[in-house]
Amino acid sequence: MSLRAKTIEVPPYTLSMALRLYAATTSAGKLRDFRTAALAHSVDIEPLPGIETIPAPDEDGDTFLENAATKAVFYSRFAPGELVVADDSGLEVDALGGAPGVRSARYAADSGLVDSPDANDNTDVWNNMVLLQKMEAFPAALRTARYHCTLVAARDGEVVQVADGTVEGMILDAPRGMGGFGYDPLFYVQELGKSMAEIDLETKLSVSHRGRAIAALVAMLAR
Ligand code: IMP
Repeated sequence: MSLRAKTIEVPPYTLSMALRLYAATTSAGKLRDFRTAALAHSVDIEPLPGIETIPAPDEDGDTFLENAATKAVFYSRFAPGELVVADDSGLEVDALGGAPGVRSARYAADSGLVDSPDANDNTDVWNNMVLLQKMEAFPAALRTARYHCTLVAARDGEVVQVADGTVEGMILDAPRGMGGFGYDPLFYVQELGKSMAEIDLETKLSVSHRGRAIAALVAMLAR
């Protein structure tokens, strides 16, 4: 599959015109992120109608782009003529050679420690434990990391637009904060002086990889 954005026509939306995107996700958290970030740009994001009944494609690509494009292209065929957005995201830790990266959701499972998700869906807890353990030996200066998000918008089975967002941070040596999800309690953002689990959603989206990717995508589509 070619991942290059094809030069197919995107209607010339303006910011005063309501732009509607369908999000190809069944995650309530991601949908909330998409909606909150897009609202700031006067864009309406709805869940793709019927997505919960569509068998999900495999996310076994080597890059965020490959996974996001696979999902966007696949799901766009279920909403003819509409723009369908899919994302892939994860944590890249420099000291670990960019791991867990595209395997972020399955980090503990990949280590053989636990099935992911386990029966009580403690996936995030296990993933954080594995990360803490792998980072044990590294001093503060070597704990640099970033979250990365790639968003792909597709229509009728063709990639229309690609946008990326990143946020730089440091991996803490103990969890901080109760908010967010995933690796947020271990991800410290220097510009905020807080972990991602210590800030509210609006603040998180104003600096986060997903917030930045959504803003970039919306700006491109609204051009
Ligand atoms: P995805 O659902 O395939 O995009 O997997 C993303 C995985 O990366 C999640 O399960 C988390 O482990 C991690 N991740 C991505 N974005 C965030 C975030 O904003 N906070 C915390 N963890 C994140």
